[in-house]
Amino acid sequence: MGNTGPAELLAIWEAGLAHHGPGRALLLHRAARPESAADELLSLPVGEREADLYALRRALFGERMQIRAECGACGEAMEFDLDARDLGVRPRKQDGPLRVAEGEWTVEFRLPTVADLEAAAHAVAGADGRAVAGAGAHAVSGAGGAGDGLLGEDVGVGGPVAADGDEAAEAFMAAEGGDAAVASTAAARARRALLARCLVSVHRAGQPVPADRLPVAELPEPVQRKLAEAAERADPAADVTLNVACPACGEATRAELDIASYLWAELDHWARDLLLDVHLLATAYGWSEPQILALSPLRRRYYLELCADG
Ligand SMILES: [Zn+2]
Repeated sequence: MGNTGPAELLAIWEAGLAHHGPGRALLLHRAARPESAADELLSLPVGEREADLYALRRALFGERMQIRAECGACGEAMEFDLDARDLGVRPRKQDGPLRVAEGEWTVEFRLPTVADLEAAAHAVAGADGRAVAGAGAHAVSGAGGAGDGLLGEDVGVGGPVAADGDEAAEAFMAAEGGDAAVASTAAARARRALLARCLVSVHRAGQPVPADRLPVAELPEPVQRKLAEAAERADPAADVTLNVACPACGEATRAELDIASYLWAELDHWARDLLLDVHLLATAYGWSEPQILALSPLRRRYYLELCADG
């Protein structure tokens, strides 16, 4: 897991403050895989990064993930736990492109990489003149939770999308759920942008469709849904969708679990707490930051208690 002592983690956090979703996800990914270069990380399938981030999360903060969410129907605030070990499934190794046949269409495509996801999100952001990727305000896109236990939990549903491309993720959720009619136009554009990057070949009624005229927007909904399903089977961790019934109103809410945002929020919280500890101990004892960071969490806690008692 590389160098993930307090000083290194603080440095990652500090660097991440200057970034948003994709940049922070990349910083976290580098912490998880310090031996890999940035372009190598970007070329990995999305689910490979997610698996790395779940592993990093386990190493830093343990297996139990607390999820807070709001019911999409009645707004009920809910909380439940997930086990990080269940979520970071590595994508299957592919020998060649994935293939989907539906009606007169045959489509070959490859699994979206982290770079694909970001480019698709940027394409949408550019078209709309606003940032899409990594709004990053929420640690978890809310799932309708269940008070005691995760009712109707359905982890690992969804298309070849994860993390930062919220619009793209929504789009694939919509496609996967057969609910594309309600997807926003921005989400639809993001989905087409992502598909366009990942298509290898398209045949209609046995005839190849030229690459510069790939009719991504015109692919029928069943074809798009099959693409999403095939990608999900090959790379389940790319898009962890929670589907939970609300204990108050009974409605099910679907939501993405975005591990990069989730982990960033935890790191942010941890770092701010730690800096407060440094401040208190430096004030009380005159120790330097490196000296305080070198203390074990247990000793730090002990000295802080002594300060409070004094
Ligand atoms: Zn509800």
